[in-house]
Amino acid sequence: PPAIRIDNLAKRYAPGKGESGEGKQALKGVSFDVPQGGIFGLLGPNGAGKSTLINILAGLVDKTGGSAEIWGFDIDRNRRNAKRAIGIVPQEIVFDPFFTPFEVLENQAGFYGVPKAERRSEELLRAVHLWDKRDAYARTLSGGMKRRLLIAKAMVHSPPILVLDEPTAGVDVELRRQLWELVAGLNAQGVTVVLTTHYLEEAEQLCDRIAIINHGELIANKPTRELIGMA
Ligand code: ADP
Ligand code: ADP
Repeated sequence: PPAIRIDNLAKRYAPGKGESGEGKQALKGVSFDVPQGGIFGLLGPNGAGKSTLINILAGLVDKTGGSAEIWGFDIDRNRRNAKRAIGIVPQEIVFDPFFTPFEVLENQAGFYGVPKAERRSEELLRAVHLWDKRDAYARTLSGGMKRRLLIAKAMVHSPPILVLDEPTAGVDVELRRQLWELVAGLNAQGVTVVLTTHYLEEAEQLCDRIAIINHGELIANKPTRELIGMA
């Protein structure tokens, strides 16, 4: 099966308190497949619906229409397996400030019930160049270190798919390069990567396939080479 299959996915947020009308239609029936093995970019301007889509896959937002499968598991009928097949790197950095990187990974492994013998905290911390910071409080880490720790945290249960929501929003050029290398390295080890971005350059550099969404609608879905050729 494809890594992810999205079929006519729709989301209408309920109107806010005091708001009249039907609420915001953030996704208007979006369909596409993410093939296994590549780096897939979901590109679109702010407000296009990218985070909504990711949050539905992560099980954090309920869809209002359509269906989705992750690694062949339906997100409704087989929610548990679907969730285990994906690692999500959220946009917001949320760590308990008094946990260390090592503890962050061990706690996450505990959440997922990864047996002690199968834990990969050292390997993951080395991969994101945080092994020498393993015992530092998270609050003392730089922004770049925290982002790298988030990536390691998402990989704790060894999911075949890694999804990153705007991984480089607001970071400087050097950190952006570092994160790109990290993502490309994970992909080279066989992890299917999906990332959202509003930077065309990021999608061009990193992704072998790009889907573009705007106002909750899919407006393109092509290999990067073809898409760039059209411009
Ligand atoms: P993107 O990630 O592409 O910037 P989002 O998925 O965050 O887009 O937002 C898509 C649309 O849905 C926007 O119009 C946004 O204001 C709206 N939206 C997002 N989250 C909520 C929410 N919790 N309640 C109501 N509207 C929301
Ligand atoms: P469960 O589905 O086992 O109830 P939760 O949704 O309560 O798991 O999440 C437990 C912890 O794991 C939280 O810190 C949450 O942010 C994190 N988490 C959940 N799903 C993922 C994921 N796919 N990738 C990374 N972290 C996740």
